[in-house]
Amino acid sequence: MSGSKISELRLDHVSRGFGEVLALDGLDLTIEGGEFVALLGPSGCGKSTALNCLAGLLPLTGGSITLDERRIDTLPPEQRGFGMVFQNYALFPHMSVRANIGFGLKMAKVGKAEAQRRVDEAVRLVQLGDHAAKFPGQLSGGQQQRVAIARAIVLEPALVLMDEPLSNLDAKLRLEMRTEIRRIHQTLGLTTVYVTHDQEEALSLADRLVLLREGKVQQVGPPETVYTEPANRFVAGFMGYRNELELPVSSVADKTVVLGDLTGTRREDLGETAVAAIRPEDFTVGDGPNAMEVDVEVVEFQGREQAIQARTAGGDELHLRVQARLAPGDRVTVSVPPERVLVFAADSPAAPE
Ligand code: ATP
Repeated sequence: MSGSKISELRLDHVSRGFGEVLALDGLDLTIEGGEFVALLGPSGCGKSTALNCLAGLLPLTGGSITLDERRIDTLPPEQRGFGMVFQNYALFPHMSVRANIGFGLKMAKVGKAEAQRRVDEAVRLVQLGDHAAKFPGQLSGGQQQRVAIARAIVLEPALVLMDEPLSNLDAKLRLEMRTEIRRIHQTLGLTTVYVTHDQEEALSLADRLVLLREGKVQQVGPPETVYTEPANRFVAGFMGYRNELELPVSSVADKTVVLGDLTGTRREDLGETAVAAIRPEDFTVGDGPNAMEVDVEVVEFQGREQAIQARTAGGDELHLRVQARLAPGDRVTVSVPPERVLVFAADSPAAPE
């Protein structure tokens, strides 16, 4: 079991409407064999619709999907032969772990010895060796999700589709299974499309992220690019630029924008007012560029850091993540480098809260 079985999956102008709503609006995307791609965005952006279109569970209302030059969007799900992992595991409760994992092989009429060998390998890969004879009801959520993953990969599908597979797990298991999914992908190299609304999950798992808003692509790129160079205000907000200050534009010189007392980096054409987007962790306590005085209102302990809610002299709320130890009522100076202040047009769409 290893290696991608495809060289390219192409979505050309894929659309899907539900009455008046265009859940997917002309999605263009090319996925290379072996890639792990995360579809990311807030609730309702069209991620599940995209995945269901890929799986064949939803017909397209426009566009096409091509797998290695072969048109597949007209094929029923079973003829696509993709592996699917859902949020709710969808295991057969009356079958053992082994039988669940081997079910697809049986349907595909794979010989008994070969099927056994492949189930063994999948069981080992997802580290369920001690539980292979148990039934789903005797397993924890994380173990059940491992069974679902093993069942999806045992057929070595051309494409693995995962729809929020970790969202029913508690925080600790989520982290554990995240590493697990990454490890399995590193081992097998199966082409994977993974849907999530959790930016941290997408950043840590995917080779490339696709950010969607209202059925349209906002940005496609490797995690580092999307994280550090968000294409627009929506992506910035979604990727953790939690602070937004709306201010009048004083001057613009190439990429450098001055907004009142704040200097930032222009990311798009601006009108008379603009929005400065800043990550909580890009502030430091003390004098420096863009120094401003703030009043500390709420302090949350977060181990090495504190999460602070503060207020500027102008009355704006600011979220900071700092290593300094502060207390409510403190008045402190904080600063942030101009290259960490991204400036967008005030009328650009924002990410939901
Ligand atoms: P979530 O994270 O909440 O699952 P999502 O990003 O996966 O959201 P979709 O489920 O793909 O979003 O939905 C995209 C849009 O299409 C939404 O506006 C949704 O209301 C609409 N939609 C999805 N499925 C249907 C349907 N069966 N009938 C009508 N509208 C639908």
